[in-house]
Amino acid sequence: MNADVVVVGAGQAAAQLCLSLRAGAFRDRLLMIGAERYAPYQRPPLSKKFLTERRPPETLLLRAESLWRDQGVELLLGTSVATLDLKRHTLTAVDAQGHAQELTYGTLVLATGTRARALTAPGATLGGLFSLRSIDDVHRLRPALDAARHIVIVGGGYIGLEVAAIMRGEGRAVTVLEAEDRLLKRVTGVDVSAFFESLHRERGVDIRLGARLAAVVGEGSVTGVRLADGTRVAADVVLLAIGAQANDDLGRSAGLACRDGILVDTLARASVPGVYAIGDCTRFPSGRFGRELRLESVQNAIDQAKAAASAILGAPRPYDPVPWFWSDQYEIKLQMAGLSDGYDGAEVVGDRAAPRFSVEYRSRGKLIAVDAVNDARAHMTARRRIAEECASPAAGEPARPA
Ligand code: FAD
Repeated sequence: MNADVVVVGAGQAAAQLCLSLRAGAFRDRLLMIGAERYAPYQRPPLSKKFLTERRPPETLLLRAESLWRDQGVELLLGTSVATLDLKRHTLTAVDAQGHAQELTYGTLVLATGTRARALTAPGATLGGLFSLRSIDDVHRLRPALDAARHIVIVGGGYIGLEVAAIMRGEGRAVTVLEAEDRLLKRVTGVDVSAFFESLHRERGVDIRLGARLAAVVGEGSVTGVRLADGTRVAADVVLLAIGAQANDDLGRSAGLACRDGILVDTLARASVPGVYAIGDCTRFPSGRFGRELRLESVQNAIDQAKAAASAILGAPRPYDPVPWFWSDQYEIKLQMAGLSDGYDGAEVVGDRAAPRFSVEYRSRGKLIAVDAVNDARAHMTARRRIAEECASPAAGEPARPA
């Protein structure tokens, strides 16, 4: 089988790439290969409403399956790409029954996303231990949550806190273990961390900061966790929400330059001509922020896919974003714009008690990020202000990674 463009992965970025190519009058054969059995769907609701509302998977689809047919985008689902041969322009795709086929491509796009970081502590193979990245993960997790008396969530990042909020909404007992000294430390400043800590404590979440997991304990199934200081916490479900790892192994073993992500330039071009990578699995240069970024967000998946499509269509539009992200916890919407790490000044604007406020982060006087709590207007304005203050340097010729 041959296709002019083959996309490995059928998630948010892959879907956008195909839509943008067709919108740009790309008429050639287009094939998307996805390891999951679902057509491209949105992941954000998995840790939010979808987890509690128990709706059918179709409600998450980014587009009706018929649209892909109408657009002439072929889908090979439930199929993993196992190997790539970048010299021969071939790949091996293996379906759920283990049948392998070799495919030939003209242009290859890797959109393989991330996988949940695995637990290295003892007890990692016990029953009752879960992670959350896919519809099938929700289908495994949901019955266990229904039967659980005590849920322990390892990791006080977005996914862990969103699930904690959902579980409290259902009246379930939840403990969140966070190894750092504050929640959301990797992504926000102290004010927003403190706000979410109080919010969750008020709603009855048992939050343990500086809590290092030493082992998951139980016989066959989990009965609790042991912390490095010897404390034991009872649990019949443990959700691991300790971050994600780029699916760059396929690209790396085929010879693409990778460093915790497939290295790409501002046109999403990987180190070998004819190969692109988009979305969570990539690491790309940001002229605006003066460093390389690996982002895990819908914004990044969509906008980087558009940049790749523009390059494939021969009308290149380089990608140098002001990243943005959102998180829903209880009735609170957190919207983040820019990148706050490395800030040297933070100012709270608005009313924390309302709550409707934002925190503006600056570095050497320049606005680098704004986190807005229940303030959509502040968020939208922030995206424009950050784009102006952290201007993208005049674009030179994009340099493909070595
Ligand atoms: P994905 O959507 O992960 O798709 C990658 C696909 O590639 C997967 O289906 C995978 O199975 C497939 N694949 C991998 N390897 C192979 C292979 N070898 N062969 C075939 N297929 C393969 N972002 C936000 O901006 N806001 C949010 O509120 C938010 N909430 C989230 C909540 C959860 C629970 C999760 C998991 C993510 C959330 N995100 C959120 C992140 C967002 O969903 C991702 O950034 C986005 O889905 C990335 O798109 P992608 O196409 O790069 O990867």
